[in-house]
Amino acid sequence: MTPKKPPPLPIRNRSRAEITRIEQIVFGKNRLLWLGVIAVLAPLFVLLLLQYSWLTDLEENTIVARRAALQNYLQTITQEAHYFIITTAERALNLPPPAYTEETIETAVHFFESRSLVGIDRLFIVTFQPIPRIFFFEPATHSMTELEDSPETQAVRVAVAPWATLYKVLAEVKTTEFIVNEHDPNYRIIFNPITGNDNLLVAIAGLTIDQKYFAEHVLPEAIARSLPTFDDEEALWVCVRDRHDQCVLPSNPCSVAEPGRVSRSFNFMFTDWTMSLQGTLAVPERWARTNFLINITLSAALVVVLLGGITFTVRTALREMKLSAMKNEFVSNVSHELRTPLASIRVFGELLRRGRVADPAKVTEYGSFIETESRRLSQLINNILDFSRIESGEKIYSFELADLEELLTGVLAAFRVRLLEHGLEIEYQGPEEPLPDLSVDTNALERAIANLLDNAVKYSNEGTLITTRLSRRDDEVVLSVTDRGIGIPSDEHERIFERFHRVGTGLVHDVKGTGLGLSLVQHIVRAHGGRVSVISEVGRGSTFSIHLPIDRTPKNKRKGAP
Ligand code: ADP
Repeated sequence: MTPKKPPPLPIRNRSRAEITRIEQIVFGKNRLLWLGVIAVLAPLFVLLLLQYSWLTDLEENTIVARRAALQNYLQTITQEAHYFIITTAERALNLPPPAYTEETIETAVHFFESRSLVGIDRLFIVTFQPIPRIFFFEPATHSMTELEDSPETQAVRVAVAPWATLYKVLAEVKTTEFIVNEHDPNYRIIFNPITGNDNLLVAIAGLTIDQKYFAEHVLPEAIARSLPTFDDEEALWVCVRDRHDQCVLPSNPCSVAEPGRVSRSFNFMFTDWTMSLQGTLAVPERWARTNFLINITLSAALVVVLLGGITFTVRTALREMKLSAMKNEFVSNVSHELRTPLASIRVFGELLRRGRVADPAKVTEYGSFIETESRRLSQLINNILDFSRIESGEKIYSFELADLEELLTGVLAAFRVRLLEHGLEIEYQGPEEPLPDLSVDTNALERAIANLLDNAVKYSNEGTLITTRLSRRDDEVVLSVTDRGIGIPSDEHERIFERFHRVGTGLVHDVKGTGLGLSLVQHIVRAHGGRVSVISEVGRGSTFSIHLPIDRTPKNKRKGAP
């Protein structure tokens, strides 16, 4: 009885159920992963929205708080200025009422000469008996003089005019407070009515403020004491403008007026002067916006870092899932690749052992079939062992000079039976001129060529031609295998060299394989200092070429890839 020849060995249609099961596992895992990502992203975006709304509220409140704080600084400065003027006046003007009106001048001289004149321009006394007369204190001569029609006399006269009337009508004067008059901004006057026991006006003691001293000492010191200190000294300063909008403090320049700046007038003397805050931090709106932008940028940066982390994690997880799916498929493919030839070998071996095959031609056919299948099994096992050695970095190459033509024809001879089985024809085109011997690891290179031929067989249509070529191109020897098979889409040309990668797994073709062949070919060729190239078109076939450099110096041992 002639046994039925088993179907072409490597080709197996993967059952629909098997494909669906793999897809379900990968899809199920992916769905879980994406649910996890959504579970992280959703609260993150809600948090971001809340953060944005909080920061917007905070910005509005900050403007109000900041404006109040800046107003407070300015108010402290006005209080300091007020305090200086009042203490100066109290020191210089609280002279006791003279016993007799005639003694007024004498009493004033005694009082004034014992006073400090810091911050004071002129001290004066106004008497009303018989007519209003204005006497200025002369510190150099310790005397009082009248300065007829001088500008300061005019200023004082206008300031005390209402009091002359009060004197005339013998009105009671009850005020104990200092009175300020600055109708002439060159002479800012503060004075104190001196009254007798009967609350009747006796005289007026007054002074004009030393404006230079006020601007150069009092104000700068008050500003320095009141303003908070910042790291950047330029960040905030106070400018003071007079009634003509001229800058009073040369050290504190005034920029062009800007809406939103915090400003304030003096409220006791110098009421025509205005203080305003200058600098980058002076406008509360801008300050609050800067803070808002810093905070929102920090939050955005945090979100970007988090998103980066999530993306990285998802990519790693997807890669791991893909690798795990590929490894599972690899295990199932390897089992299949082992099981099918082993079953055939067992059947043919059994037939031969039982002596059921009498025809010597059949015996030879079955014998060579067993030989080819065993060879394929060895190749598969070698591939797996090589892969494991490469992965663990243990792969060692042994180089020796070899004739490539001899090497290639040897591999082709071993393949002949397999080609016949598939009804394929093979043609060999040798080099035009003899090639030099190359330093190669013969076992490894044979395995690489066998892998290319194996693929050409697997992915060829029955009855087509496989062409192997050996040629010299410049400084390299090129060994190529061309088939007229299913071809490879151009976007896969690089990825087919990745371990476990198979074109469109289960969709483009149903040929079983491990996805290791080409990655091993590439590793082996690279270890020889060469490269692998592919030219392929879907439906037209593929050409895989091994390029080996000629001038490579022979090396005895080489570990791993270059
Ligand atoms: P496999 O064991 O799957 O053949 P390989 O690493 O040898 O693994 O090849 C990777 C993939 O490249 C194959 O699954 C196949 O899709 C594609 N491929 C390799 N060689 C050919 C070829 N000659 N023709 C068409 N496709 C091929």
